[in-house]
Amino acid sequence: MDDRRVVRAPRGADLSCRGWEQEALLRMMMNCVDPEVAEYPDELVVYGGTGKAARNWEAFWATASHLRMLGEAETLVIQSGKPVAIFETTPRSPRVVMSTAMLVPRWATWPVFRELESNNLTCFGQATASSWAYIGAQGIVQATGETFSEIAGRYFDGSLRGRLVLTAGLGGMGAAQPLGVALNGGVALVVEVDEGRIRRRLRANCCDIMVRELDEALSLALEAKARGVPRSIALLGNAADVLPQVLEKGVVPDVVTDQTSAHDILYGYVPAGLPYPEALSLRRSEPERYKELALTSIARHVGAMLSFLDRGSVVFDYGNAIRLQASRAGVARAFDFPGFVPGYLRRLHAEGHGQVRWIALSGDPGDIYAIDDVLCRRFPENGNLQRWIEFAQSRVAFQGLPARACWLDYDQRCELGGILHVMVASGQVKAPLVITRDLSHAGAEASPYRESEDMPDGSDTIADWPILNALLNVSAGASLVSVNHGTGVGIGNAIHAGYSVVIDGSPVSREKIETVLAADSAFNVVRLADAGVERAIEQVHRTRARVPMKPETVRR
Ligand code: NAD
Repeated sequence: MDDRRVVRAPRGADLSCRGWEQEALLRMMMNCVDPEVAEYPDELVVYGGTGKAARNWEAFWATASHLRMLGEAETLVIQSGKPVAIFETTPRSPRVVMSTAMLVPRWATWPVFRELESNNLTCFGQATASSWAYIGAQGIVQATGETFSEIAGRYFDGSLRGRLVLTAGLGGMGAAQPLGVALNGGVALVVEVDEGRIRRRLRANCCDIMVRELDEALSLALEAKARGVPRSIALLGNAADVLPQVLEKGVVPDVVTDQTSAHDILYGYVPAGLPYPEALSLRRSEPERYKELALTSIARHVGAMLSFLDRGSVVFDYGNAIRLQASRAGVARAFDFPGFVPGYLRRLHAEGHGQVRWIALSGDPGDIYAIDDVLCRRFPENGNLQRWIEFAQSRVAFQGLPARACWLDYDQRCELGGILHVMVASGQVKAPLVITRDLSHAGAEASPYRESEDMPDGSDTIADWPILNALLNVSAGASLVSVNHGTGVGIGNAIHAGYSVVIDGSPVSREKIETVLAADSAFNVVRLADAGVERAIEQVHRTRARVPMKPETVRR
């Protein structure tokens, strides 16, 4: 048994597995725990509180050795981060299928989950940790930018120039916030309680400066706002302390949100009122007391967000269940501000736009730049894409295997598979590629406080959709298909489906990628049309899906 704890995915065009699909998935798994990528690689914790790449190190290395032996007509089955069996299937089948943290609904609570986890029966996988699709902040910056761009379009004449965004959390996903604000020309003030995390983000060029005092942070932020220059300031502090202090000082940010790991009040959110190291020891010594304090802090934190709302700030929940936790702590108006998906992304989803990301298995950034070039030339009419690629090339650091995430429309995503296939087959890139998608997609995520919040027909809690999405992607031939529970918002609150497809230049890989991209991208529009979203009903007939029953617009 390999006992290494520091792992980096192999690079280059040489195989250590029996085929590129297996090799690609092995590299993706290893990439997730690369110290450049994962938040706590030693513990296999990748991001989002305790989202893990494997149940434990033994399971990690067993999976690696099974992937190395796996044949081109075999499928490896993974149950909550542990490999359980290999079956004979076909080359067109997925090489890996997995299910993580799924519990029978009546038992789907954090206490039951933690007990099962401590008995080594399950693990928390988030959306992209256990499914090996996590690529760090490089995977989420543009999606964060799209959210802020929608806000800019709706409230601020199309730009955040001269606008201040106040938020918290510089973790795996939260680190994309300052870049997403900068992409729109704004000023970001981000509160983070862990100095180590801030230092890491400064090294990765995610934010410009760290400050320890609120007054200094505010004066830098307000000065940049007045001059209309983009700037990002990380303030060392606890959001539950800092937000009420900003209120007291009479400063009203233009936008307020949050990306602390509020979904997990034990391992995610840090309570205020005690020094950070003491909070960490309290977490170990008195977990129940810790959770009480965390909930009380979240109530204060959300109370301040509501006061900003009352004073005119644009306030939204950034997918971390902070409104839900605050309502549990007795904040009656917790749901007065919207979630980011129904608030800002649903219109784009209904029109068929969505995120897709590609990873260069060569490890060579040149491959990503070559793809950037081809896509910018192929889709010159997509101004957002041109702007994003230019920004990404100058500001977004590669973490682990170089990758690019892009929002594309439905037709562009259908075309993408063929474009990348030709680039691999003709040697324009040095090794095969992997395509994955993240969440924020109602067809792949039943999450009533995020992706499926506020469905016109009231179907927010229907979880058939992600299961159907996973089944569809298996039929379409994705290389890896996963279902996960608790993604983003915690146990009991969400079911998600993800996929990865390997592009190795072979005819079967071309067929797989083209089928998956067309089916998965259409599925989101189908789900929204079925729920009665007017724009999706108009668009669904433009996709390659045939819809047997005419969906009807629903207004609530
Ligand atoms: P993470 O656990 O890696 O980071 C959370 C950060 O918040 C940590 O750096 C932590 O020190 C900091 N923090 C915790 N409590 C704090 C407090 N009171 N004050 C200041 N800082 C505090 O998580 P992540 O991967 O960055 O994800 C953040 C949240 O967003 C999670 O709830 C996650 O599930 C959710 N999420 C959102 C999206 C999205 O697209 N918006 C995507 C994935 C996950």
